[in-house]
Amino acid sequence: MRTVDLRSDTVTQPTAAMRAAMMAAPLGDDVFGDDPSVNALQERIAALLGKEAALFMPSGTQSNLCALMAHCQRGDEYLVGQMAHTYRWEAGGAAVLGGIQPQPIAHQPDGTLALADIEANVKPDDPHFARSRLLCLENTLGGQVLPMDYQRAAAALARRHGLATHLDGARLFNAAVAQAARAGGTPHEHARQIAGLYDSVSVCFSKGLGAPVGSALVGSAELITRARRLRKLSGGAMRQSGLLAAAAAHALDHHIERLADDHAHARRLADGLAGLDGITVVPPDTNIVFVDLAPGKDGRAIVQAAAERGVRCTGLYRLRLVTHLDVSRDDVDHAVRVLREIL
Ligand SMILES: *Cc1c(COP(=O)(O)O)cnc(C)c1O
Repeated sequence: MRTVDLRSDTVTQPTAAMRAAMMAAPLGDDVFGDDPSVNALQERIAALLGKEAALFMPSGTQSNLCALMAHCQRGDEYLVGQMAHTYRWEAGGAAVLGGIQPQPIAHQPDGTLALADIEANVKPDDPHFARSRLLCLENTLGGQVLPMDYQRAAAALARRHGLATHLDGARLFNAAVAQAARAGGTPHEHARQIAGLYDSVSVCFSKGLGAPVGSALVGSAELITRARRLRKLSGGAMRQSGLLAAAAAHALDHHIERLADDHAHARRLADGLAGLDGITVVPPDTNIVFVDLAPGKDGRAIVQAAAERGVRCTGLYRLRLVTHLDVSRDDVDHAVRVLREIL
């Protein structure tokens, strides 16, 4: 049976060329700082995003955790979206391991946090309160690209209040590719412009970029020095990790521009599903399609029925369908046929 896996862009298998790059990578021991492939990747991603330094991490969760702990002390707080990965999807790590209190803020329909809400939640210097220390945004958020003007204004507001800024840019390159398609310029230029608004940025290689493992944290040399200690503390210092860094470097060479295909496939998927009774398809900005189900439609049963026919997705009240490197246009058309029958 044909399978189309739309659960996440994390499910991609490394391509043959990526595996070859991994096998050819010169290796050292990164805890001693002498893995040439890790060092090359770190220098490259730092330069690409216009920062002084970078640190290769096993996961985006750890990269965000090390960033939050590098910015904040125990008893500090970070302002963050209700639906943000760093708040909702990372097992409360900042609070559990860092003693950092989240101050969640409701999202606007476009994924932003209202500037007035951010401002209203910055605490005055008063012993009753945790110390507001960091604003943490996410781009893309649920596949939505945050507008540049908004990010500029939010970063300026944070600076005015003495807050540092961190971007969870797990899918930063999806945002950059979408922005380049709209506004002209290259994805690299857009990625650098977005990153330039924040003190630190975490990017995933293991999502749409198609590497098997890995994220990077970028920021000032001083911040990255603190993050290196925190990566060790949290068990993320690896040895011959050049094997993985080589996959990430290959992804930077070959898999950024092609994200535009994933975005086109997501639009095709959304268009193909539109118009059925009992569902509302949210038009995708990038590579994630949400399908809202009318009350009475059983998301779990739909996911199960689709899986039995080889189309895998996730969802309860809204289906989530993610396009990626291993999903072709034909796969999209197949998934549309199967899902239309079930829906
Ligand atoms: C996937 C993801 C992460 C990190 O996930 P890991 O599975 O830990 O690599 C962080 N933020 C966002 C928005 C993500 O989608």
